[in-house]
Amino acid sequence: MRIWIERQQLVRRVWIRVEPDGQVVVTAPPWYGERLLWRLVERHREWIERQRRCYRAMDRIIIGREELLYRGHVYRFVLRRGLGSEVLIYPRLRIIASGANLLSSPIQRQWYINEATRLVGRRLRQLAERYGFRFTDFAIREYASAWGYCTSDGTITFDWRIVKVPRFVMDYLLLHELVHTKIPHHGPRFWQQVERLCPAYHKAVHWLRTYGRWI
Ligand SMILES: [Zn+2]
Repeated sequence: MRIWIERQQLVRRVWIRVEPDGQVVVTAPPWYGERLLWRLVERHREWIERQRRCYRAMDRIIIGREELLYRGHVYRFVLRRGLGSEVLIYPRLRIIASGANLLSSPIQRQWYINEATRLVGRRLRQLAERYGFRFTDFAIREYASAWGYCTSDGTITFDWRIVKVPRFVMDYLLLHELVHTKIPHHGPRFWQQVERLCPAYHKAVHWLRTYGRWI
């Protein structure tokens, strides 16, 4: 079991948390002695183990070193020098091929951002037209803890990881923000509207709760 100790000026007491990957993070004020810390961890060992077992038992998506998650499916990456920067996607074979090494994380991230911009842009316009919504602009960003935002002037933004979720989940996320262009808050009227346009939205919310943290 790996244990990380974080020293933080602002905390007054010791906090122990277990991350979804099983790592244990202990946050403590700088003056808190190391020996006391380990004793505290020892005393909470049972609780820590329980948390870790709980995370292990959860459904999760496992992505291998040579794989990419794209629109809810795991694809194998094949490096083909001859392709240059072009990226070919074979949905039936579940293969993504390119001359650019998408397994390198900065290249991979940039590719995901480009794909998110392309796919979200197209689908957002389609859905807005179909259901009569208006948005000012849209953009792909990076958010630590949200999938999307809609500002009061109608600008919609999404986290680039949206390109990793299945289509039905992406549709839900897009419709969610489109509905916000008319109803800014999450009141009953908001959810009624979401359900009318996206009857399977509970399934999408469930998917995000189950797998969202892993991607
Ligand atoms: Zn919302």
